[in-house]
Amino acid sequence: MFDLKSIVRPNIWGLKPYSSARDEYSGKEAHTFLDANESPYNNPYNRYPDPLQRELKQQLAALKGVRPNQIFLGNGSDEAIDLVFRVFCTPGRDNIVTIEPSYGMYEVCADINNVECRKVPLNSRFDIVADSLLEVCNDRTKAIFLCTPNNPTGNTLDAGEIRKVLELFSGIVVIDEAYSEFSSQPIWRPEIDKYPNLIVLNTLSKAWASAGIRLGMAFAQSDIIALFNKVKYPYNINILTQHQAREILSRRPDVEDWIKLTINERLSLMYAVNELDICQQVYPSEANFFLARFKDANRIYNYLVDEGIIVRNRSRVKLCDDCLRITIGSPKENTTLLSALRRYYYN
Ligand code: PMP
Repeated sequence: MFDLKSIVRPNIWGLKPYSSARDEYSGKEAHTFLDANESPYNNPYNRYPDPLQRELKQQLAALKGVRPNQIFLGNGSDEAIDLVFRVFCTPGRDNIVTIEPSYGMYEVCADINNVECRKVPLNSRFDIVADSLLEVCNDRTKAIFLCTPNNPTGNTLDAGEIRKVLELFSGIVVIDEAYSEFSSQPIWRPEIDKYPNLIVLNTLSKAWASAGIRLGMAFAQSDIIALFNKVKYPYNINILTQHQAREILSRRPDVEDWIKLTINERLSLMYAVNELDICQQVYPSEANFFLARFKDANRIYNYLVDEGIIVRNRSRVKLCDDCLRITIGSPKENTTLLSALRRYYYN
């Protein structure tokens, strides 16, 4: 039922990609590189990075339980999101479907690429119903974007409904798992071998504490990854990022401690915020943030800004009236937030 060629933009399917100097030569024995018009000075930054990030992908493949040719690396997962549009969606013709509320870049990338974005509201439990998503698809729907745990609601989406979408939709299903390391629910990455239409997104920006280096990942069957590699900028991941990514990936025990600490802090902060009189509801979270509904969120937001504390005001987002999204910080930062909220409450 899934036919990759039939959903890829014809110009991309037929594209002859740019062939860089490092693509044309990648042997190990050479010692004199006079092929890329690089400077011979200031080693190693004088050299272009590996365009396919082979060493980093070897390390990631072992860690993530996939093969290197099932990994695409981008300048943040935002690059992978944009590539879904550039590879699959013909501007002015095709559309994508996503959920509302969710991560804003799906719609922004759709707008930039002149692709219609059809948004299906989540239900009262902030969950999806597969039939509602499938209902709005037509023969020009190239992709469905899902995010689990979802940003900004914090909950994971129903696995049975996701599976139904994967099985019944004949286009691409993107599952953005940017926050999955903080969740106790099963992840979708191991399912890429089973579903030829599945793309799973991960990032080093959240649990791996490396938002500053910009490294996002897409996992899918190798034919999809090959298309991404064809369209991406030739040297999209710089040497410093590749190096620092390998470094943080080797510090897995530290990262696991940070995740545990964040999950513990999430529990106590959510409990404490829920106790405040100014809080109407704290929504369940499987991420490193949570959504809470307040009495007059705008006023509380402005008060916190005056106190030098910035949370995310989501009040204008659909289904999120009076909601603030609060990132779990360090124990000290969380205490600072709580004492400020308690002072507001007593004022
Ligand atoms: N997906 C989701 C759900 C996010 O919330 C974010 C960032 N807030 C991203 C992707 C982008 O992450 P990156 O830093 O890898 O571009």
